[in-house]
Amino acid sequence: MRRVYFDYNATTPIHPEVASFVKGFFHELFGNPSSPHWAGRETRPYVDEARERVAAMIKAKPEEIVFTSGGTEADNQAIKGAAYAFRGKGNHIITTKIEHPAVLNTCAYLEGKGFSVTYVDVDRSGMVDPGDVKKAIRKETILVSVMQANNETGTLLPLREIGAVAREAGVLFHSDLVQAMGKIDIDVNELNVDLGSFSAHKVYGPKGIGALYMREGLDIDNLIHGGHQEMGRRAGTENTLGIAAFGKACEVIMGEMAEETARIEFLRQRLLRGLEASVGDLRVNGDRERRLPNTLNLSFEFVESESLLIGLDLAGIAVSSGSACSSGSTEPSHVLLAMGIAPEVCQSALRISLGRGNTEEDIDYALEVIPRVVGRLREMSPFYLKR
Ligand code: PLP
Repeated sequence: MRRVYFDYNATTPIHPEVASFVKGFFHELFGNPSSPHWAGRETRPYVDEARERVAAMIKAKPEEIVFTSGGTEADNQAIKGAAYAFRGKGNHIITTKIEHPAVLNTCAYLEGKGFSVTYVDVDRSGMVDPGDVKKAIRKETILVSVMQANNETGTLLPLREIGAVAREAGVLFHSDLVQAMGKIDIDVNELNVDLGSFSAHKVYGPKGIGALYMREGLDIDNLIHGGHQEMGRRAGTENTLGIAAFGKACEVIMGEMAEETARIEFLRQRLLRGLEASVGDLRVNGDRERRLPNTLNLSFEFVESESLLIGLDLAGIAVSSGSACSSGSTEPSHVLLAMGIAPEVCQSALRISLGRGNTEEDIDYALEVIPRVVGRLREMSPFYLKR
């Protein structure tokens, strides 16, 4: 059976060039990069080089990059670190209703610790109005946290404008840039961000490694205490293998990005046009123009997305209903609900996210399988038959 992977927003396979780059690490490069002897000295340059590569991808300085265990830790470090460092100044945080759980649940935790959080609304396409962020700012506001690209819908938020609002008010600005990295160009200076979260496994690197961009001169509380690694900002012996692989992934993906983005966007549009032509009662969720090139979020009305996901999996097609973190739960997506989409339409939403492994043949296969599976499920749906 043909296997098609359409879940690149959940995770990506290791890029072959990254895999061959890190092979030597398993045996030869075992030194602790903090050790002054030959073994440490052999490993240290790989960590330094990776820091330069990650920094280059987001137009930052290497010393502004702190390696973490992933995007979740980077979000926690940014938000809790800023909240605790600036609690003398105020206790108010602004975020949006469509953030990843790594941001939303961190904010909810802080609410339990005496902080107050404003969750800004989005419109029907999942867009945040920078004016709403401006209106929410109070004299106690210490942090604004808004993602660039939504992981479920792919909608791109007006980050530069939101960053400018935060800067003008003298409030720190964090962005979860996990889904943007590798799919669109990122320049942390242009975006006006002070803190930015990244994750290697979304850019063809390994899982369990990520980074936090911290603007030079910024001092926030540490999340993890211990040794002096990562310039005293994140304790614990460095994940040298993961860090080197992340750096290499950034270098390789940056080189491929322009060409790959155009190719993937073309495939996505072909898939969407084909589905719109062959499946009725189909809705596109999210902004049609301002979106990631690889992501589609579609509601196949009258079909339960979990059943569709299983039907497609049986045909070898891997997709996601809502986000991977919330699959297994039957709750409608918080992102789609925040967009004002009816719960039953949310329940029929499927996320299809493309990547560098996808081909024209994958699209042909999907255009043959998806309408067939949707049709079969609708034949069994009393709501569809009665409509
Ligand atoms: N933020 C966003 C927008 C994500 O999509 C993800 C992963 O799904 C994360 C954060 C969490 O990153 P990690 O899996 O590296 O902890």
